[in-house]
Amino acid sequence: MRKTARPEVDWQQLRAGIRDALHTGRLPLDLAGRDKIVGAAASGPCDACGQPGAHVAYLQRGGHTVHFHSACEAVWREERAWRG
Ligand SMILES: [Zn+2]
Repeated sequence: MRKTARPEVDWQQLRAGIRDALHTGRLPLDLAGRDKIVGAAASGPCDACGQPGAHVAYLQRGGHTVHFHSACEAVWREERAWRG
């Protein structure tokens, strides 16, 4: 028995995780005016789902950067909108 290499994204779980991360402050609620980085410079593990291969990043105060897959970024935006 081999586990598949490709991680299955559970959208309900992802959404719940992002909601939780917004609540605890692990993910920022407000990024207005922050620098967005797209491409190789933004690669790293995704701060929303924890999987590698992120390609969107936002610079935050203090030089911290949050990374997203584009799909995870979309969910994050939706969840922020919900709270806004
Ligand atoms: Zn992700």
